[in-house]
Amino acid sequence: MNIIMLGGPGAGKGTASTELSKDLKIVHISTGDIFREAIKNETELGKKIQDYMNRGVLVPDEIVNDVVKERLQAPDCANGVILDGFPRTKQQAEVLDRIFEESGKKLDAAIELSIPDEDIIKRLSGRRICSNKECGAIYNVVTRPPKVENVCDVCGSALYIRKDDNAETVKVRLEEYHRTSKDLLEYYRKDNRLKTVYPKIDSSVESLMNEIKKILEI
Ligand code: AMP
Repeated sequence: MNIIMLGGPGAGKGTASTELSKDLKIVHISTGDIFREAIKNETELGKKIQDYMNRGVLVPDEIVNDVVKERLQAPDCANGVILDGFPRTKQQAEVLDRIFEESGKKLDAAIELSIPDEDIIKRLSGRRICSNKECGAIYNVVTRPPKVENVCDVCGSALYIRKDDNAETVKVRLEEYHRTSKDLLEYYRKDNRLKTVYPKIDSSVESLMNEIKKILEI
């Protein structure tokens, strides 16, 4: 199964993708995670994209498309993928359709997590992420706190705050989302591929996953 998760920053794409990836036993590919890792390792890609990421603006389509194209050729993608944070523009969506077509695959579902801006701001200001890359569990100090402050319930690693989860950058990221998402969502809506879920700020992960699974008929 090939699935894409759409929605603004902090809508829950990462959490839903992690859960789905476990359930369906298919890989979870987050372009944001790939970029953060590249910055951490100071690779050529990392140097190219660092400034965009820090400002909260989108990385140019050509760079993102090349990264995704290469990643999708890896053998672990053969059984399907969950793309989290890609596509973010209509141009990226068109490229993705072409990539799938060229490899005899297709997109099974485009799931949009739609939440109001004020909920996004609340969620991102309290977001804490597990520093263990293999785990990557996501918490919120208000709505989904870890049992022990700053410690991951799942693997015991320390939690961290994303550099771009500060109020100023969140504002830019939201503006970027509104600037680009209209055409993107319309691209998938026009041929009925778009399915929208409206998570509440206090929705449990379980109830969100139940809704998504209903859509996917799994
Ligand atoms: P995320 O982890 O999905 O919130 O992404 C963090 C940042 O990475 C974004 O604010 C962008 O700067 C960059 N980014 C991630 N995915 C994309 C994409 N598909 N297109 C452009 N920029 C992206």
